[in-house]
Amino acid sequence: MDKLESLAKELEEIQVDLMRRSWVQYTVGYDFGIDEVYEKLNSFMSDKKNFYIVCKYLDMDLNEIDKRKVEILYNAFKPYHLSKELNELNLEIQKKTNELSQVLNTFRFNIEGKEITSVEITQILSNEEDRNLRKKAYFARNQINKPLVDAGFIELINLRKEYAKAYGDNDFVEHKLKIDELSPGIFNSWKDELSKYIDILNNKRMEYAEKFIHENELMPWDQDYIGSKIAPSLNTTVDMSNYYNILMRFFLNFGIDIDKYNITYDIFSRKNKSEWGYNFPIETGKDSRILANVKNKYHEYEVLLHETGHGIHSFLLKPEERILNAGVSGIISEGIANLFGGFIYEEIFYKNFFGSEVKDEFVEMKEFDKLNYLRFVGDIFFDQELYRNNIENLDDIHEVYFKVFGELFNDKIYNEEPPFGYRIHHTTHPIYMHNYFMGDVTCEMLKKVFNKKYGTSSITEKPREFGEFLIDEVINPSGLYKYEDLFERISGEKFSFKWYLE
Ligand SMILES: [Zn+2]
Repeated sequence: MDKLESLAKELEEIQVDLMRRSWVQYTVGYDFGIDEVYEKLNSFMSDKKNFYIVCKYLDMDLNEIDKRKVEILYNAFKPYHLSKELNELNLEIQKKTNELSQVLNTFRFNIEGKEITSVEITQILSNEEDRNLRKKAYFARNQINKPLVDAGFIELINLRKEYAKAYGDNDFVEHKLKIDELSPGIFNSWKDELSKYIDILNNKRMEYAEKFIHENELMPWDQDYIGSKIAPSLNTTVDMSNYYNILMRFFLNFGIDIDKYNITYDIFSRKNKSEWGYNFPIETGKDSRILANVKNKYHEYEVLLHETGHGIHSFLLKPEERILNAGVSGIISEGIANLFGGFIYEEIFYKNFFGSEVKDEFVEMKEFDKLNYLRFVGDIFFDQELYRNNIENLDDIHEVYFKVFGELFNDKIYNEEPPFGYRIHHTTHPIYMHNYFMGDVTCEMLKKVFNKKYGTSSITEKPREFGEFLIDEVINPSGLYKYEDLFERISGEKFSFKWYLE
């Protein structure tokens, strides 16, 4: 396997270079030649000699682990050896994506002519008593729609559609699922499964709207505000300058010492910096970097916990297993990250800031959050529908948006343009958002399996054991199995939506 391993090492070096440059682009807006590295990557991948090395292993008599390694590399190289047209399209997609991510990272919203950061919009949405001002802040997010489309967002969608067709797949969604080793029909039952909960969801939202804002409908611009009424402590002002020690001590509960890891944090907003939260797993087990945008609120720790979850995941993988590490599903990564993000509501974390007085509000908030998260399926489906409908202009996108949310949640069309472009995933990570949701479904499964095995009612009763469980049952085998197989291996059942709420 030496030749295969050294091929993977060469590939990793190019990817590390790409990730380092992306980090700079996302943190300060400088582009130190991302397109050039993409070209280098493409020529490495499309080099016939390299593909030949991988193909030679296909006919060999190998053990299960080595077979899996060959499968992972073969799947990575294969798309580059189908046709010249595909490679050209791929390069065009990469360039367009890079161009548009620059637009997104440097764009700033404004309210009444005054520049406003995403963090500030979030704060208005959760604190502002005046419903109209909240609405204004919510729709400020749609200001990026047009610049994004003007810069070529629809061209990008069409390029991806063309790529999938040229590949021989029915559409880009199916193509992406295949590349991610997921069953093409994995979402087919979701709409029906979800429909069972729509009345519960909408009634609960109405109940809260009546209670806290004396309205009969909870609109998107009310959601965070109502959250802050349910759990006002989430908005407590905290001193973020001590974030590192708080995180470090928290992870020690699980037997994980981040002091031993090389995780870089860049957590405060600045000009030309991406307004999202990211983990850049620059080099597995060696260099992991976290980008976030926080200011001074307790709830902002959620993103730090989530991204640090990614960071520790990278350090718990074995760096020398670079091929298997490339086979880890995005659902597992996001699942682990969301698992740690969820501790924002648990005493094991909040005790750094609060006493038991917050217990009830956090329990209620956790339930509200979990139920509302079903609406995220709307964002997932909207992203998919962009590739299944004819999109010629911005109005077509809005139409798809309202159609998806109308069909899934009985939402009514509103007069303003829905904010969608601000969500960077549609541009940089298409057909990716299901990873978060399915990651949460996976977490629910893991907690249930762990509690049953250890006779606990919450994983926080035995955090150290849970840390070991996570490493042994999830992280170690995660590159070895395709996601659905791993899920079944741990739970004994097939993946299904039902794990989330039952
Ligand atoms: Zn994440």
